[in-house]
Amino acid sequence: MMELYKQLKNYGKVKLSEPLSKHTTFKIGGPAQFFVTVEETDKLVALLKFLDDEGIERFILGGGSNMLAGDDEYSGVVININSKKTEVTDTGIIADAGCSTVAIANLSMKEGFIGFEWGVGVPGTIGGAVRGNAGAMGSDMSNNVEKIEAYMDGELVTLNNAECDFHYRHSFFKDTGAVVLRVHLKLEKSENKDGMKKALEFLQYRSKTQPQGFASTGCIFKNFEIHDTKLNFDVPEEFLKKGIISAGWLIDQAGMKGVQRGNAKVSDTHGNFIINLGSATASDVLTLIDEIKEKVYNKFGISIEEEIQILE
Ligand SMILES: Cc1cc2nc3c(=O)[nH]c(=O)nc-3n(C[C@H](O)[C@H](O)[C@H](O)COP(=O)(O)OP(=O)(O)OC[C@H]3O[C@@H](n4cnc5c(N)ncnc54)[C@H](O)[C@@H]3O)c2cc1C
Repeated sequence: MMELYKQLKNYGKVKLSEPLSKHTTFKIGGPAQFFVTVEETDKLVALLKFLDDEGIERFILGGGSNMLAGDDEYSGVVININSKKTEVTDTGIIADAGCSTVAIANLSMKEGFIGFEWGVGVPGTIGGAVRGNAGAMGSDMSNNVEKIEAYMDGELVTLNNAECDFHYRHSFFKDTGAVVLRVHLKLEKSENKDGMKKALEFLQYRSKTQPQGFASTGCIFKNFEIHDTKLNFDVPEEFLKKGIISAGWLIDQAGMKGVQRGNAKVSDTHGNFIINLGSATASDVLTLIDEIKEKVYNKFGISIEEEIQILE
């Protein structure tokens, strides 16, 4: 164990038995046996190669804002990506995976670009946002990514937008486990200051529609994509038009809003948020997740899927 500790120190700052609750927005999670914070992309690549060559289990952590870490120890290496270099070009921004999405959205507006204002309300890193094709205000990463530099199976690869295989809250990176290293955003210049106004409206809207003052990990479930599903229940017209049924609506209709298990509670404000009332455990949250899925299925005959990553 001490041998690995020494080796890991070549790549970044290492902590032993580091509580993941300190690094997730949910403030939940047991200790990670090894926790390495990496500041530079070169070191990140070298660390990934080292761990993969040695067959050592690893988990990539960005801002910890779309995940639930289990209560028990994670017996592997958590790699906390904290690389934060940015470069502004004529056609957009190049950002290291560890940059915060909010910081890049703010930088884009400061530099006179439009199209990425929606990022102002999305916590976490830009690498995590690419992996989950994060989105808001009717847009998502697929509309802004030009190309991605990534690490996959010991190699460095560059993928263009189409190769990223973006769909609703889905990407190539989610499927393959490839690690996003650097993000190239393609943005438009505009004299128009509407972007800033839109961003403010968006933040105000969020503060009204999302729970405030409690730890959470954003939306727990993906909205339900209707596709060819034959619905045997009535849904608001707006969902039919969009082809998507809001998971929050389904959870609300299934009577789960406000339900509490242990110290975790389905938010009264937004049915798709679970809030940590103070000392919630992963087990409390998982109990609620199972119950929500069952209640939604029993009422509507459809299965909703987690948007968050569960690390057990
Ligand atoms: C209050 C609140 C509001 C939110 N609002 C939104 C919203 O409007 N829209 C939205 O889409 N999301 C939203 N989220 C969820 C979250 O902010 C996004 O999903 C975010 O992009 C996750 O990034 P992260 O760095 O925190 O990822 P993490 O939680 O650290 O990781 C999530 C997953 O991505 C993987 N990952 C992280 N970094 C990388 C990388 N560089 N390469 C490969 N895999 C990686 C991890 O291994 C894990 O599997 C919200 C969350 C909160 C708490």
